[in-house]
Amino acid sequence: MPQTADVVVIGGGVIGAAIAWRLAVGGASVVVADPAPGSGATGTAAGMLAPVTELHYGEEPLLRLNLAAARRYPGFVAELTEASGVSVGYRRTGTLAAAWDGADLAALRDLHEFQRSLGLNGQMLSGADLRGLEPSLAPGLPGGLYAGDDHAVDPRRLHAALVTAAERAGARLERQRVQRVEVDEHARGVVLDDGTKLIGACVVLAAGSWSGSTAGLPAGIVPPVRPVKGQTLRLRLDTSERLTHVTRGTVRGSPVYLVPREDGELVVGASAEEAGFDLRARSGAIYELLRDAQALLPAVLEMEWVEVSTGLRPGTPDNAPIIGSADVDGLVIATGHFRNGILLAPVTADAVQQIVLTGSTPEDVRAFAPQRFAGLVRPT
Ligand SMILES: Cc1cc2nc3c(=O)[nH]c(=O)nc-3n(C[C@H](O)[C@H](O)[C@H](O)COP(=O)(O)OP(=O)(O)OC[C@H]3O[C@@H](n4cnc5c(N)ncnc54)[C@H](O)[C@@H]3O)c2cc1C
Repeated sequence: MPQTADVVVIGGGVIGAAIAWRLAVGGASVVVADPAPGSGATGTAAGMLAPVTELHYGEEPLLRLNLAAARRYPGFVAELTEASGVSVGYRRTGTLAAAWDGADLAALRDLHEFQRSLGLNGQMLSGADLRGLEPSLAPGLPGGLYAGDDHAVDPRRLHAALVTAAERAGARLERQRVQRVEVDEHARGVVLDDGTKLIGACVVLAAGSWSGSTAGLPAGIVPPVRPVKGQTLRLRLDTSERLTHVTRGTVRGSPVYLVPREDGELVVGASAEEAGFDLRARSGAIYELLRDAQALLPAVLEMEWVEVSTGLRPGTPDNAPIIGSADVDGLVIATGHFRNGILLAPVTADAVQQIVLTGSTPEDVRAFAPQRFAGLVRPT
């Protein structure tokens, strides 16, 4: 028997779960289809909310969206915690970018100037300042940059909170893969792996790296998303050498970050590999992460080993997300969040809520419409 809902969401990662929550709160009946919600990039991510230290030259439009998302985070976390009863590990202690050598410090100074020209807060630190803030860092680091507005959250807890809040608001989770989308001149719903039809007035495509391989989408509508593999390590330290701040660095040209959680977990990340949909952990990436992490924080080598996790960042040709109505009535796309999906979840969910419930697209996501890739020749 076909089932019906106002909205069918394909994918229950952080993006699909956040969208389901906001739509259900807005009064829509929602079904989310996902065989393993939270098992995608969401479960691997470190959870940095870092518009300042994640800034890459040439990505100013994305920066504006990242800043809008960061501003929304405190309210979003408060509302979500209230709705779900789940604490999401939101930490506002700020981020340290530690320089490895003099050349690195000079590069951080340039980045600091660029950030200031864009109105972003940051403060250059001497080596002594750095160790004053984090006494466990390696002696001899020449200095760094403090970004007080770059925070962090625990993505796994965030996802659990979103699923709970969405279900409490009436959304339903269908633990199955979408086999294909049903589209004629209008999106009609989806067919699940067991053949069940979910009929929806609106379909939201939020399947992360798999969004481009969802069957049934007309050729011109398929979003140009590719998987960018990333590995993170989870370690644990129960002593006073725990970090207080998210700490990042570039050790001999190789970027690494350390994200502490209140319970003593430390997330070390991350590799960036163009390896298709291969999710196997690669020993070289683990070695490089441990090598570079211990160069910043020697205590890394004394920590308990907990886990290696591999995820696929949904990358796009311009590294920015794809959010908006497709050129088929009733089909909305919310994917391609690449390095920033945890940060961008609230702003994406609010945008999709407005698009679906009112038909209008909020100003802050207009630059990220699917149509900007129209005519793009896709690799076969
Ligand atoms: C190593 C690493 C570190 C990261 N660190 C950060 C960070 O510090 N801060 C930050 O903001 N972002 C970070 N990210 C990026 C962030 O994790 C992603 O942008 C975000 O998780 C994307 O969420 P999503 O819901 O779109 O995709 P995913 O979390 O990948 O979820 C997609 C879901 O779709 C489901 N699915 C796939 N195909 C189908 C189908 N046919 N039918 C139904 N369901 C389907 C999958 O099961 C999966 O649950 C990191 C990513 C990685 C890999």
